[in-house]
Amino acid sequence: MKIGVLALQGDVREHIQSLSDCGVIAVPVKTESEILGIDAMVIPGGESTTIAKLARSFNLFDLIVQRISNGMPTYGSCAGMILLSNKVEDAITGQETFGGINMTVRRNAFGRQVDSFETDLKFKGITEPSIKAVFIRAPWVESTGADVEVLAQITDEKGVAHPVAVRQANLLATSFHPELTGDNRVHKYFVEQICSELVRG
Ligand code: GLN
Repeated sequence: MKIGVLALQGDVREHIQSLSDCGVIAVPVKTESEILGIDAMVIPGGESTTIAKLARSFNLFDLIVQRISNGMPTYGSCAGMILLSNKVEDAITGQETFGGINMTVRRNAFGRQVDSFETDLKFKGITEPSIKAVFIRAPWVESTGADVEVLAQITDEKGVAHPVAVRQANLLATSFHPELTGDNRVHKYFVEQICSELVRG
């Protein structure tokens, strides 16, 4: 199985390292033929508006949408989560997403004061100890459709819980960056729980 990390902008190298540590072949992808040649994809953290614009200008946007809607397992972290969501709050005018997950996310949801932080999270399907989650100008999930499973959430200062990791069928998204912590359990979850059909095939 070959997993491509969308390499238009963002922390591509860190995802390739995390995936390689899980024992799969991981390659950067930024052309049509490279994207056609992979079994699964990771959309890295970075800047969602930039990644979407570059995907448009390199003529990859529709191909990515098509591969996602045809069931290619895809995992998006942070900006990648935004790009996998069907709807975005606090988007810039005209901001596009690839879509696929029936949810609304809020960009930069944690506010300017709390640009980045780290916390321990319980993640459904990953056993103890908790995940050390790094949030960098992160989104959170405002609302989800019935077909979306919430895997982790965070409680804000008002006591309101917000999903920060979700799954819908072959699609996984996290607000945080497991590729930055050296803990590969979220990537392992993606490989083993979502791409597993391909591994067995
Ligand atoms: N705030 C960024 C965006 O809207 C995401 C930040 C990140 O990926 N670390 O795309």
